Amino acid sequence: MMDAVPGQKRVDLACVGFGPSGIALAAAIEECGDNRDPTGLTSRFFEARTSSAWHPNFILAGSDINHHFLRDLATPRDPRSQFTFVNYLKTNGRLYDFGRLGRAPSRQEWSDYVQWVAAQLAANVSYCDPVQQVRPRFEGDELVELSVDARSGPVSTTNLVVSVGAEPTIPTVFRSLMGDRVFHTSEYERRILGLPKTPRSIVVIGAGQSAGEAIFDLRQRFPNSSIIGIQRSSGFKLYDLSQFSNAVYCPPETDYFYGLPPSRKSTAFAETVRTNYSGLDAEICSALYQQVYEDAVARMPRITLLTRRAVSHVQASASAISLSVKDVNSDAAEVITSDAVVLATGFHVNPLPGLLQNMRSSIRMNEWGQPLVNRDYSLSLSGPSRVRIYLNGLCEHSHGIGDGQSFSMVALRAEAIVRSVLRSRDSSAERHDQSSSPELVSL
Ligand SMILES: Cc1cc2nc3c(=O)[nH]c(=O)nc-3n(C[C@H](O)[C@H](O)[C@H](O)COP(=O)(O)OP(=O)(O)OC[C@H]3O[C@@H](n4cnc5c(N)ncnc54)[C@H](O)[C@@H]3O)c2cc1C
Repeated sequence: MMDAVPGQKRVDLACVGFGPSGIALAAAIEECGDNRDPTGLTSRFFEARTSSAWHPNFILAGSDINHHFLRDLATPRDPRSQFTFVNYLKTNGRLYDFGRLGRAPSRQEWSDYVQWVAAQLAANVSYCDPVQQVRPRFEGDELVELSVDARSGPVSTTNLVVSVGAEPTIPTVFRSLMGDRVFHTSEYERRILGLPKTPRSIVVIGAGQSAGEAIFDLRQRFPNSSIIGIQRSSGFKLYDLSQFSNAVYCPPETDYFYGLPPSRKSTAFAETVRTNYSGLDAEICSALYQQVYEDAVARMPRITLLTRRAVSHVQASASAISLSVKDVNSDAAEVITSDAVVLATGFHVNPLPGLLQNMRSSIRMNEWGQPLVNRDYSLSLSGPSRVRIYLNGLCEHSHGIGDGQSFSMVALRAEAIVRSVLRSRDSSAERHDQSSSPELVSL
């Protein structure tokens, strides 16, 4: 095995991010050896947050998961795994009770499950430990090792897995105002607690699931406040949740999408977008509509939906936030004032997150500026390399919508990455044996 940078700790695999994708990977490392034993890979997982709670700032009352519970952190890889949701239910004495529930697990329960798995795999995890950058080490032309620079110090590896999740999308007009009164839904719970008890009005920007949920939640939390939804579209649209279109979250889709000519992928992707983005599920859509209707019956309208509107300018003073808004078709302009603005503007996947900045010249890109990714989720690197960098949950552009930010493929992707690391470990051990035993080679 190659020497580490002098004095630097070395592991077979380092993973940035210990959310669901990172946790599923740690579980696969534990169970993908021969006879389902641990693989023997040494590993280190770095997590920026204090825990692995799943989207803790947006676990709203009544919200549930939108994937089937069997698509958990382990079942698709191995239903006999100890890390399945069913085992979580059994261990916590709720197997029969859950069965009688007759609906999907709540986000609260799913987050508890995710943390239950994370706790069992915590030995190699360091929390509150963001990775700031990754530095390459070359010998001549060959990339031989990476230094993963975390807050706690650097660690060397030849297998880096990037599991950092999606990034909040912040429209440009709001960027300089982010803070206590203007915030993204990824900070919702934390920021809401800091608002005045009875704000006069709160604006919610967006037309997706998080916008619908935030408007509904704010209406219940602040019954005397006015809630104003602003969206570019003509009204909330439903997600495409048909059993048939959900096939894009099943394993054959990954092979299909990965095999498409690169020039055809963006069109194929766009056709699947409604299954996960810019839509609302029927449940929250109905609840929201009924609330608006009942408020009208009571002659106390609380929710105003401004559709086909775009925010062109925002100004904040000590007493209010003023949003200049234009109709997207007629350009008719108006100004909306509010005490707070919630950006339910979604997330985007960045396949080359900032921490890979130093690696850019070694990563092959396609003509659209996206990194080239191999079928096993490793980045295609230019020049000779003993290093592998895997994207775990960031491969929508190369592997399709099911292989991005969704639970559906998390367990199988983790297995694919672990098997790829094991293959490269075995083949480099073989090369090492051959070069150090010339007499054996000649036999
Ligand atoms: C409100 C909400 C509800 C959702 N509901 C569903 C659902 O029901 N079903 C579904 O399939 N999908 C759902 N999703 C999509 C969801 O993103 C995925 O299910 C899942 O969380 C993806 O896991 P991940 O580990 O790839 O990313 P994340 O969950 O985002 O985890 C990434 C982790 O990496 C850490 N990290 C980032 N950068 C660094 C760094 N530099 N150093 C160290 N750590 C770092 C982060 O702190 C985070 O913990 C939902 C998303 C949201 C926002």
